[in-house]
Amino acid sequence: MNHDVIVLGAGLAGLAAARDLAAGGADVLVVEARDRVGGRVEQTALPDGRLVQLGGEVVGRAHTAYTALVAELGLTLTPSYVAEPGALTRATPEGVSAGGPPHWFGPGDDARHRKTTAAFRALAATVDPDDPWAHPDATALDRLSVGDWLRDRGAGPAVVRLWEIGQLALADGSCERTSLLAALRKHAAVPVPDDAGPEAYDYEAWEGLRVAEGSATVALRMAAALGGRVRTGSPVTAVTVRRPGRSTVRLAGGETLTAGAVVSALPVGPLRDVDVTGVSHGRLASLHRQRQALAAKFTAAYERPFWRDRSRSGLCESEGVLGSTWPQSEGVLSALVPPERLGVLLGIPAPLRAPELLTEIARLYGDPAPPPPAPHIRLWGTDPWTQGYVTQWTPGDVTAVGPRHGTHEPPFYVCGSDQWAAGYMEGAVRTGRAAAEEALRRG
Ligand SMILES: Cc1cc2nc3c(=O)[nH]c(=O)nc-3n(C[C@H](O)[C@H](O)[C@H](O)COP(=O)(O)OP(=O)(O)OC[C@H]3O[C@@H](n4cnc5c(N)ncnc54)[C@H](O)[C@@H]3O)c2cc1C
Repeated sequence: MNHDVIVLGAGLAGLAAARDLAAGGADVLVVEARDRVGGRVEQTALPDGRLVQLGGEVVGRAHTAYTALVAELGLTLTPSYVAEPGALTRATPEGVSAGGPPHWFGPGDDARHRKTTAAFRALAATVDPDDPWAHPDATALDRLSVGDWLRDRGAGPAVVRLWEIGQLALADGSCERTSLLAALRKHAAVPVPDDAGPEAYDYEAWEGLRVAEGSATVALRMAAALGGRVRTGSPVTAVTVRRPGRSTVRLAGGETLTAGAVVSALPVGPLRDVDVTGVSHGRLASLHRQRQALAAKFTAAYERPFWRDRSRSGLCESEGVLGSTWPQSEGVLSALVPPERLGVLLGIPAPLRAPELLTEIARLYGDPAPPPPAPHIRLWGTDPWTQGYVTQWTPGDVTAVGPRHGTHEPPFYVCGSDQWAAGYMEGAVRTGRAAAEEALRRG
């Protein structure tokens, strides 16, 4: 079958690209390995009708490409858990505290925290998120881990621990294994306003909103409009790019499709498993150098938001197997297992995993009655079609991936959240639409 463009992957990036390509008059086909669309956005309905998001869930006011798409699709943005009343909970082996400075802080730590955060923000202001390689100290900043930089700045162990618990709460990789340049680049892409307090991460800018109809509905609605132009159950095994001429896409069943252009909207892990030829060695080396942080998501639907009984917001940063919890919707709690602890989760015999995670939640907020009937554990890190969670940049990665990041080699176009400075659903939509625009511009 001949097409103008074949899009690989029906996640938010692939669907957003295909939607714009179709609107621009292109004959487009999306091929998707799974039997469903959405990729890392996925939802399930409970018997009582509540929707539970098993993957990507919240966005922020800084996520302009995503929020514009939501409006175009006629969906509704509503405040997320960030608007939930009550105190943030922090849990470590030695204690659980609510609000205020972390319970492990001693004299001077708060001042040291404010000082290092201000220095981080100031340094981030010198990084261009679209061209971090142009920074005069790019190589040195990329070689340093965030943890080493904090220590160099005199942050002290208690402050480093606060950064670490915050980083793992987002299920990012450890501070000790994250490039300083990558962290600065992410911050520069969504800067924190000066009046936003002493933190380096602005929850409101990143996570203050959610789609009332369910974040996976964004993907479902785009796929519904594309209709027969999306083929599920069709894993891609090989791509041969020809210029000029028709490129080919080979599917697992042996079928070969042809197209004038190919848009890869695959995560970097699964893309490594596809045999791509006709693309420069430098581009493939750059793509294959990217990696993801591996994580799992846990969701538990309680009858009611019982954490409010203790004046807690339901947002927690923890050193347990769970790195964080937050309320997803009325009574539904989301939680992430960060990469540093995914191995611990996998080591728990499968039938014991949910009970042990529920015990952790009870330590945070008290024992709710009744317990949630059907918690979900979604192991994204070991899912063959994701092989991760969000982009992770280890020291040296930004330099090694290089300025090809997020760029194209027509007629081979690349998009997906991995191809934006900061990942996330915003990155998927932003790069998907940009790839479509570039492909249409080149005809
Ligand atoms: C647990 C979790 C929580 C998250 N929370 C948030 C959040 O709150 N806010 C936020 O903004 N972001 C969040 N994210 C990140 C966000 O969901 C993703 O960055 C975004 O959805 C990725 O979209 P994508 O289209 O780039 O990739 P994907 O959604 O991964 O889509 C890629 C598609 O390619 C398909 N595919 C893979 N291999 C092949 C192949 N060989 N052939 C054909 N198809 C293939 C996959 O099946 C998939 O459908 C979260 C992610 C996870 C996993």
